[in-house]
Amino acid sequence: MAGMVLLYATSALTGELHPYHGAADIAPPMARNDAYDAVHAEGLGPLVDAKKGYRIEDLGAGAFMVTEGIYQMMILRTGTGLVVVDAPPSIGDRIMAAANEIAPGQPITHLVYSHAHVDHIGHAGALLAANPGLTIVAHGETGAILQRANDKSRPLPTEVFDGTDKPFSLEVGGETLRLNYSGPNHEPGNIEIWHEKSRTLMLVDVIFPGWMMWRRMAIAHDIPGVFDLVGGINAKYDYTRLIAGHVGRTGTRGDVEQQLAFMTDLHAAAATALGSTTPGEGMRTQDKTNPWAVFDNYIDRVTVTCVASLTPKWRDKLSAFDVFIYDQCMAMEQSIRVDGPSL
Ligand SMILES: [Zn+2]
Repeated sequence: MAGMVLLYATSALTGELHPYHGAADIAPPMARNDAYDAVHAEGLGPLVDAKKGYRIEDLGAGAFMVTEGIYQMMILRTGTGLVVVDAPPSIGDRIMAAANEIAPGQPITHLVYSHAHVDHIGHAGALLAANPGLTIVAHGETGAILQRANDKSRPLPTEVFDGTDKPFSLEVGGETLRLNYSGPNHEPGNIEIWHEKSRTLMLVDVIFPGWMMWRRMAIAHDIPGVFDLVGGINAKYDYTRLIAGHVGRTGTRGDVEQQLAFMTDLHAAAATALGSTTPGEGMRTQDKTNPWAVFDNYIDRVTVTCVASLTPKWRDKLSAFDVFIYDQCMAMEQSIRVDGPSL
């Protein structure tokens, strides 16, 4: 835990730079950080062969996770070819190399989109060009987003399924992937992909095994929806390995429990800080007539209190806690204020 000089708030009276009272020794957004915390061992996956540029993890029963160390996708070997789930541009051309390694000479027949975000499916256009006739499957919400996006790198699905908690069975060459949409979460249309034979669950941009969630609860479209999904996923699926879409290793049920515990603490810390912080306190009289300024000051102090209360317990448990904890507290206090206080 690197100590750092806190230089990020300016006193109107003295012009001095100083932190809010009680702030953790973690750089807030917009303050330069010259020393981030070290990544914990639990956050790291096996090394990726630098020459190949990807790593394949055999999950059994024909299911494989492919990663370049930061992004993850799935390849499923079937009796008639390969089903690919997601096509991250960061893996790009190596998707075909990995497919050939898993099943030499076998065609890619199907591509499933977990959700519409470019960083997870932006190589789909190239994959389609290399595999003409590819069947592309997605939830209808994802199809609607892609229709609007009109982006050649993300071709429209050829097959969509609709509804919430109405699982769709994709059956290919004797293998089944069950696709289910639980309702808005990270992005509308973001689905669970379940391969029962290998007990592999894929759920992207919701769980970050061993790591702090990406900023603002992974830019969640619907924060209460993310809480519902994370809180229910272990009861809903009897999985042993999770393909979470990010970080260098697969996830476990324990990773989900840990993230849920963190999110529960985050919610409690933000709620407590919102209640215990007095708006306008310590501000100049003339600034108190500016409601935007009053709220900016209030939210800053709520965030500082939230971060300070979470730091002792969580800094050593989650890699990159220090990188995004301010973002998480800001996203959480905002969600509590506009989405409502309950989990
Ligand atoms: Zn995403």
